[in-house]
Amino acid sequence: MSVQLYDTHSRSVQALPSESDHPLRFYCCGPTVYGPAHIGNFRTFLIQDTLRRVLEVDGYTVKHVRNITDVDDKTIRRSQEEGLPLNKFTAKWTDKFHADCTALNMLPPSVEPSAVDHIPQQIALVEQLVAKGHAYATEDGSVYFRVSSFDNYGSLSKLKQRELQTQNENSAGELNDADEYDRESVTDFALWKSRKPEDGDNYWQSPWGEGRPGWHLECSAMVDSAFEGETIDLHGGGIDLCFPHHENEIAQSECAHGHAFCNHWFHSAHLMVEGAKMSKSLGNLYTLDDLREKGFSPMVVRYTLIAGSYRQQLNFTFDGLHASQSALLKLERFAESLLAVTGEDKAAMPNYTSKDAPADFGRLAKAWDALRNNLNTAACLGAIFGVIGSNPAASLDADGARELLKAFGSLLYALGINLFTAEETKVDAPENILAMAQQRWDAKQAKDWAKADELRDALLAEGWVVKDRKDGFDLEAQ
Ligand code: AMP
Ligand code: ZN
Repeated sequence: MSVQLYDTHSRSVQALPSESDHPLRFYCCGPTVYGPAHIGNFRTFLIQDTLRRVLEVDGYTVKHVRNITDVDDKTIRRSQEEGLPLNKFTAKWTDKFHADCTALNMLPPSVEPSAVDHIPQQIALVEQLVAKGHAYATEDGSVYFRVSSFDNYGSLSKLKQRELQTQNENSAGELNDADEYDRESVTDFALWKSRKPEDGDNYWQSPWGEGRPGWHLECSAMVDSAFEGETIDLHGGGIDLCFPHHENEIAQSECAHGHAFCNHWFHSAHLMVEGAKMSKSLGNLYTLDDLREKGFSPMVVRYTLIAGSYRQQLNFTFDGLHASQSALLKLERFAESLLAVTGEDKAAMPNYTSKDAPADFGRLAKAWDALRNNLNTAACLGAIFGVIGSNPAASLDADGARELLKAFGSLLYALGINLFTAEETKVDAPENILAMAQQRWDAKQAKDWAKADELRDALLAEGWVVKDRKDGFDLEAQ
């Protein structure tokens, strides 16, 4: 048991701790629930889900915590635009997020705390920071973190002192007085924001008056709650969060507790669309539903979003989605070829879980090693297709096929890929085609394989593909 992963802080690949007296403490910054998550968000969440699956297949016990950001400028503004109380509005988008996660075959996190449910904990954290001189209140009742009080600030993003200083100067090189904000320094960030008219009813009482927490604060408070103030083993997020969000989480937590916040930082690169940054104004911002409407199943989307190396930007294209569709089909054919040797139907293919992983992945060992070695999903899939290309079903007996199927199934579990789940576009077939398909099904039930194959080919010649289910068949027009 040992998974290697790139760590942003040390800028090197490190082994995740394999011997420990506690489950691996894995925290991920979660979604801001003000609308449907887009496929960029899902790239990050799917990569985190895949890492967790790999860890579990490798024998780790993981405590996976992913929060819900349900109070910030965007959630407040949008809830007001819709005339809904904040909690009703965020509940609606939290439910949608969960539905999308399920469709994408993501495991639910062990704990999913929400920012609004942790207001007292956030206030207590600010009080600690003020008491220790790391934070100060301003006249309007806001509280800021004093960045100059934390020597290590910038160590994760390697933001040099000089750059920090630049942010603090105007173009003439004079120190910026930050008159707009009442802050000691422009690099100081808000821990608590005093109530503004535009906040409407969304404010809480605090020792500094009415207000609401700053965004960075919530993760430090929720990490404390979920992991009882202990150092966490692993922290994930998109690369955009490295600075300032994660830098600020470190500052808040380390100054409050006096010990390391997190041992390993896991950042995933961004998703681009057709070579451009995704944005509403460019019309290239896609949600899962947008892609479903265009006929792509969630499994095709999952495959597309995890197939590339997580440290490289992924350029999302419709050609890429089509390529994933055929890749999934190849994986299905491979499973079918092994099942044909074991004498089972694809409906009988077990759903492998992390508990089923073989000690030895045999021919697929290279694919499994790729996942354990810095989550190299691209190399893993390449190795799987290499094995598929060698057509092992041709030379395996039933036991050998079963063994290979188990290794294959465990890899699919680690990647979160379920086969035979495509949301097929149902087209009504004409009577004669239906009759032929029914005859083929009957032949199959009677184990008349030759006749069943003959009818399958005949249907194919007419432009129809038969796909078997447990209890019947579907017909797809080619
Ligand atoms: P948000 O809902 O904006 O708080 O973001 C949720 C997660 O999605 C964070 O980890 C972000 O870093 C990540 N994220 C946002 N945009 C993208 C993108 N284009 N590609 C990959 N991850 C993204
Ligand atoms: Zn966070």
